[in-house]
Amino acid sequence: MNELAAELQLERVLLGLRAPAEQDAGAAHAAGMPAPSIARAVRQAAAFAALRPRVLELVRGHAPALIDRLAEVIAARQAPPSRAAYCRLRAAQDAGALAAFATSWSQLTCWHIGAPQAPLPAPCPLPPAEEAFTLAREPSWPWQHLVDSLLPAPLQGKVWVVATDSRPVTRIVDDRAAVFVRTAQTSPRGCFELAHELGHAVAWLLHRRPLPRAVDEAAAAWMARHLEEPALWPALGGASLSGGAELQARQRLRRTALAVALAHTEQHPELADTLLGAAVGSGVPWALWHDGGAQVAYLHAEQLAAQWWELGLRWVPPWDAAMASLTTALAQACRAAAALPAPLPW
Ligand SMILES: [Zn+2]
Repeated sequence: MNELAAELQLERVLLGLRAPAEQDAGAAHAAGMPAPSIARAVRQAAAFAALRPRVLELVRGHAPALIDRLAEVIAARQAPPSRAAYCRLRAAQDAGALAAFATSWSQLTCWHIGAPQAPLPAPCPLPPAEEAFTLAREPSWPWQHLVDSLLPAPLQGKVWVVATDSRPVTRIVDDRAAVFVRTAQTSPRGCFELAHELGHAVAWLLHRRPLPRAVDEAAAAWMARHLEEPALWPALGGASLSGGAELQARQRLRRTALAVALAHTEQHPELADTLLGAAVGSGVPWALWHDGGAQVAYLHAEQLAAQWWELGLRWVPPWDAAMASLTTALAQACRAAAALPAPLPW
């Protein structure tokens, strides 16, 4: 196949996957574009260097859904989540990635989320959970104050904070960022979750394109890091924004240690009892079951956020300078992610 034919085939696949009536790979599958044919288009296009950025775009945007919609993966996920069931799920994901992309699920995931293939840090004991982190502080927590403090004038009106009872998340809706958070949660954890999601919103509003997951999470982790620095709070509009700088810092270390344990489990599900035993008790954490690759993304994100912090990147006025600096940092991180060696056979 020559380059033009490979490009046309790749374009056809991308258009099919983007079409409104075919929002996910399951729909594409139903519309007559089964995962193997999409994977074949990827492999054929990957032979041509000029097409590789679009191959990465396709893999980043669609590979997780393609693998999730394979019959074996659906069957494995229908079982009640247990550690044995998790081993079967991971085996099905690996088999699917190998069949479709000729690489392991872990390598494919690391590549498209933008995390380098590097040995994970050694698991370490988890710092204790602290009741103060989740304890309500006052009846009317001024969450709107934190929103106003972290959103400079040019971005206000472009972020829409929505109260929810489920997991916090940020979605892009009609060119605005919709931040779903538990605004009723008047605890330091609620404050962290709001700052984290505002980081996602700000990153999207500045970059205006989808970010690799690890870079997106880095922006969120970096934004929440401001809660650990009381010296910055006056510049951000004052008051006690975090519920305790030291508490926020300790809980970040706890989250990172947990991500290390979960990331090791993702790579070695057969060791789940040992790896998770000390960290989460019995059962399978929601993230392992439903959000594959997130843990490696979080680990790389914390490293990237720490690098930005050490370089002096801060989200404080003057806002023009802060927005320009973050825009540059995001663009650099995206370039680094795009330059990661692909685990595909090209
Ligand atoms: Zn996040």
